Amino acid sequence: MSNTNPPSPSTGSRTETFTCVRCGRTVGAFTPDGLRRNHCPSCLHSRHVHDHVEGGPSECLSRMSPISIAVPRDGDWKVIHRCTRCDELTANRVQVDDNQLILMRLAVRPLAQPPFPLEVFGEL
Ligand SMILES: [Zn+2]
Ligand SMILES: [Zn+2]
Repeated sequence: MSNTNPPSPSTGSRTETFTCVRCGRTVGAFTPDGLRRNHCPSCLHSRHVHDHVEGGPSECLSRMSPISIAVPRDGDWKVIHRCTRCDELTANRVQVDDNQLILMRLAVRPLAQPPFPLEVFGEL
């Protein structure tokens, strides 16, 4: 009657979820690729749970906003997050199911709002 079908012990953390601090979406802690996720795939916001300077958990726990895209030489896009409370910056790999519209918006923002007139390039 009992103990005939014990749950598999290996699946544990794959079912872990977190709630996005910005949009409230319940997000699986792992991507379809099996990688650990640290930001919401819908709005790309994150939470300051890890102390990236000293290592280990952070006590800040504030919202981290995506502010930019970085493209390292190995080619994988990274989202730059900045903590809304302590201003710590982090770089996190873009995941396969991240919101591509928001990623593109972040990527083109500097081009859409240049601090100098673009006409100069017409004269080169
Ligand atoms: Zn979100
Ligand atoms: Zn912080």
